[in-house]
Amino acid sequence: MELVKTIAELRGAVDDHRRAGRSIGLVPTMGFLHRGHLSLVVASASANDITVTTIFVNPLQFAPDEDLDAYPRDPEGDAEKAAAAGSDYLFLPEPAEMYPEESLTTVTVAALSAGYEGESRPTHFAGVSTVVAKLFNIVGPCRAYFGEKDYQQLMIVRRMARDLDFRVEVIGCPTCREADGLALSSRNKYLRDPERSAAPVLHRALKAGAHAIRGGEADPAKVRNLMAQMVREEPLARLDYVDVVDSRTLEPVAVCDESNRLIGAAYFGRARLIDNMAVRR
Ligand code: AMP
Repeated sequence: MELVKTIAELRGAVDDHRRAGRSIGLVPTMGFLHRGHLSLVVASASANDITVTTIFVNPLQFAPDEDLDAYPRDPEGDAEKAAAAGSDYLFLPEPAEMYPEESLTTVTVAALSAGYEGESRPTHFAGVSTVVAKLFNIVGPCRAYFGEKDYQQLMIVRRMARDLDFRVEVIGCPTCREADGLALSSRNKYLRDPERSAAPVLHRALKAGAHAIRGGEADPAKVRNLMAQMVREEPLARLDYVDVVDSRTLEPVAVCDESNRLIGAAYFGRARLIDNMAVRR
């Protein structure tokens, strides 16, 4: 695997491969790689000739009071893991390489960015869409792999690629979990032992919601209350939101059905964790 620090170097390498007829897979991440990230690398490596993994803790998607400086980093460990999973390039730009001057241009995917994560983190998705647009332009035509774990982000990136005619096929990959259901996340590192034990309640609550809908519950308020109640009963959890949404528009539904998506976010100590699931299993 080759380590690349500059945009020019990465462009040159990827363009050469494309000219030679090789397909390109892109896996954008913020690093501190875990099994979830690596599942995207494996998916890319199995479907493409060349896989580019990127690691960039993007300042633009953190609010001033968020964890930009504390965000866990392990570039050496990441390089080993990415290589073992089949990545051919690891793009590790410095912030000054990605943003040599203040970016006057941002990409916003309106409606989809407004609710839920967008409400709790108002500048977050513009930061995500902007950096992903830059990566799409740097790498060029490719397949890009994103986790369903960040479901709203996946929907936003997919829509941005369509709306702006990027020559990128956005591919969603299933959420990797711990044995007790907790979705793998770099931010799980913030959990102290009791919080780690409490954290799977978010997944259990979503599962209970899905079970209720599959059992015939059609009233989203009842499903929401059921899920919220479960999270609130856990003393170490502080609920942000849980809801039943349309899986494509992310609008709250008036009547539940098996095509819905259940989404939720909660704080456990200083970790803010998100999760989601399809009703259908
Ligand atoms: P991040 O480093 O948190 O920005 O995540 C980089 C990519 O990995 C995103 O597309 C995430 O959705 C994906 N990802 C993070 N956690 C998981 C997980 N537990 N399972 C599958 N994909 C994940």
